[in-house]
Amino acid sequence: MNKKVSIFSIIVISILSTSFSAAVQAASNDSLTVYSTRKEHLIKPLFDAFTAKTGIKVKYLTGKGGALIERIKLEGKKTKADLFMTVDAGNLWYAASQNLFQPVSSEIIENNIPEHLRDPEGLWSGLSVRARTIIYSTERVNPSELSSYQDLANKKWKGKLCLRTSKKVYTKSLVSSLIHHDGMEKTTDVVRGWVDNLAATPHAEDVHIMTSILAGQCDVGIVNSYYFGRLQAEDPNAPLKLFWANQNTTGTHVNVSGAGVTKHSKNPDDAIRLLEFLSSIEAQKIYVGLNKEYPATQKIKADNLIALWGDFNQDKMNLSFAGKNQADSVSLMQREGYK
Ligand code: FE
Repeated sequence: MNKKVSIFSIIVISILSTSFSAAVQAASNDSLTVYSTRKEHLIKPLFDAFTAKTGIKVKYLTGKGGALIERIKLEGKKTKADLFMTVDAGNLWYAASQNLFQPVSSEIIENNIPEHLRDPEGLWSGLSVRARTIIYSTERVNPSELSSYQDLANKKWKGKLCLRTSKKVYTKSLVSSLIHHDGMEKTTDVVRGWVDNLAATPHAEDVHIMTSILAGQCDVGIVNSYYFGRLQAEDPNAPLKLFWANQNTTGTHVNVSGAGVTKHSKNPDDAIRLLEFLSSIEAQKIYVGLNKEYPATQKIKADNLIALWGDFNQDKMNLSFAGKNQADSVSLMQREGYK
């Protein structure tokens, strides 16, 4: 390269890069970036509705929770993420404990989303609700035999119980809720009873619990409601039913998918606007149509299919306890040999 050409190209490159960064700058004022562990088909319709309403574009990056949390931490102040979205309060709590979020105080969110589904400091909010409850074979179990998570530790279920692995955050959050209500000692007895009653090694997926019950390997299990919803949509005659656990005591354990505004968001006002939109009736209606989940707001009803499962009382434990008790729940399950 001769000198003239190289000086010329340096000038061109610097002009181009200046205008490129100016363009990015301009775009960043009316666009947001979301890092999400929820898959594209579960988030894109929500973001499209937000863009249609506000003109603010939403870019998103999907991936595994651990990797996205590490990424936001590594990117620090330079992160493009304005919002981090994930499932399970245990994961939201962990992200908050890693200093990912900034507190948001919004009357709109407080008005739309019940208190127990939000972080007390405003670091994250639940946006859709799933119940983790008992599922049973309608061929082999009379629902009058069922009552609570704790009762699944009773010897009458010996060799009849299927559970999800203790490594899954859903299990950790459920056991965290039992610790919250009953304390360590009583919960230890319950987990010991569950392990004693297992018909098989704990399953990697909720779906496998349902197929095991259908195959006759076990009679009862605990699953997230939307997995049953999906199965029912595919096979309405499957001899399986949900039972609303703990209706006479603490209520059925619920959990959320949710999101928080990142600490280093370049555009926190618009990020809050997106979070507020996601809590709105308009977005909540989209949520319930997407994944057989319950709305987080109590201002609208559940979707047709899941409405047929009937009303139930939710456990009103603040979901931050799913995170606060997580270490205790993990060590308790390890001690009791819950794999
Ligand atoms: Fe799930």
